[in-house]
Amino acid sequence: MQNTCGWIALAGESPLRDSLKGTQQADWLIIGAGITGLSAAHSLAEMHPQARIVIVDRQRAAQGASARNSGFVVGHEHPVTAELQGNEGFAGYQVDTSISRVASDEVRKRIARHGIECDFRESGYFFAVSDPRKLTDVEAKLQTLRAVGAAAQFLQGEQLFQKLGTRHYQAGIWCGNGNALLQPAKYVKGLLDALPQKVTLFENTEITGLERRSDGRIRANARNGRIEAPRVLVCLNAFIPRAGISDSGTFPMELSASLTRPLSDEEFEAIGAPQPWGVLSTRPLGATVRLTPDRRVMIRNTAEYRANDLSLAELAVRRQHHVLGLQRRFPMLGEQDIQYTWTGHLSASRSGQPYFAKVEEGVFAVAGCNGSGVARGTLWGRLLAELASGADSPILQSVIERAQPGWLPPKPFLDIGAMLRMRVEAARAKSEV
Ligand SMILES: Cc1cc2nc3c(=O)[nH]c(=O)nc-3n(C[C@H](O)[C@H](O)[C@H](O)COP(=O)(O)OP(=O)(O)OC[C@H]3O[C@@H](n4cnc5c(N)ncnc54)[C@H](O)[C@@H]3O)c2cc1C
Repeated sequence: MQNTCGWIALAGESPLRDSLKGTQQADWLIIGAGITGLSAAHSLAEMHPQARIVIVDRQRAAQGASARNSGFVVGHEHPVTAELQGNEGFAGYQVDTSISRVASDEVRKRIARHGIECDFRESGYFFAVSDPRKLTDVEAKLQTLRAVGAAAQFLQGEQLFQKLGTRHYQAGIWCGNGNALLQPAKYVKGLLDALPQKVTLFENTEITGLERRSDGRIRANARNGRIEAPRVLVCLNAFIPRAGISDSGTFPMELSASLTRPLSDEEFEAIGAPQPWGVLSTRPLGATVRLTPDRRVMIRNTAEYRANDLSLAELAVRRQHHVLGLQRRFPMLGEQDIQYTWTGHLSASRSGQPYFAKVEEGVFAVAGCNGSGVARGTLWGRLLAELASGADSPILQSVIERAQPGWLPPKPFLDIGAMLRMRVEAARAKSEV
């Protein structure tokens, strides 16, 4: 088996760009060409029309996590008990939601501005469970979601079956008004293809380190060249330590997903011909599942804290997990119906909040998407460009104030703690994978 992302395979290729050779001078350097870096590149190009902007990626641009994710545009997170209206965490939930709403709006604007075809559907999605005990405080959640501007509706049994075409889910909250779905590889490819001519992109160019020159400029070193710039934006998310930033308070996670072939007309009719949908679990390690507009089923039901990439043999084991998850929901589907299986890396933090900072003179960085970087990465790219340009706004201040990823213990305590926490979460999510 291969590690092939179905979204990327279906989105098609952009023309290959050169890799870096020799020395380049730039006014701005962006490291990492995912959603965040590309969004930053667009914003910088709009703000500084005369500037020389360079962006680099260690592999093909727009093919990292930004293309490999599940395509949920998060405007409203599922509120946990502490965040319910009347509880202590509600004020923070309100601020986070106001940021997420701006972020989801930013996605909509980028799609409209660049004419990106990415199956964008503003039809909301579900927080749904197989075990109804995993969906607690339903009334309070509906009230909380509505209080922050979401459309929210509780569904169970037959009503939910008619929406999803599977009886696996017993209860769920549909949540709209800001929540959307898209084909992630098409979205980020759209950001890439729309880059203005004046932005220079180097692909297959791995930055191995940053150093400060005696004239104050920053030199980013790669295997066959270097780029010198007075200002550098680090948009590496899970890979932020590669720029020498090791105290971001974020840690990497590796996730895996599979995408099936399209359902046949008979299969689709048999499940009631539902509209495309997306389901998020209410448990952090529960499955994320979608029925796509072209009638494929996507499942992402493994997530692990890992220092090393999964091998193909290890991925084959994760794929069996996907098969079990698929069969719980759609018993007619088996391993033979899976067309693509892949992995992707994201960056998490203890508090669920990002790292977003001026690291030192001329160096700005963001990480810690915590699984909602499609919308947030789009916003962060713009805001990081604004911060580095000396601009200010209430939303930038809001993001900076909330950017407290929390303390992480040093290794090996971090490794042990993270592993134990993941085990507990996996046990809690057992009915939902
Ligand atoms: C399986 C999966 C499902 C997810 N589902 C969702 C979802 O449904 N909704 C959501 O909002 N978020 C989701 N996420 C998270 C989302 O994908 C990320 O938040 C988002 O892609 C972050 O974008 P980014 O540009 O910051 O980082 P990335 O997309 O990771 O981009 C970083 C780039 O840096 C490059 N790079 C790494 N090292 C170097 C180096 N040394 N030199 C140069 N370049 C380098 C990488 O190649 C990569 O292209 C999911 C993630 C995964 C993995």
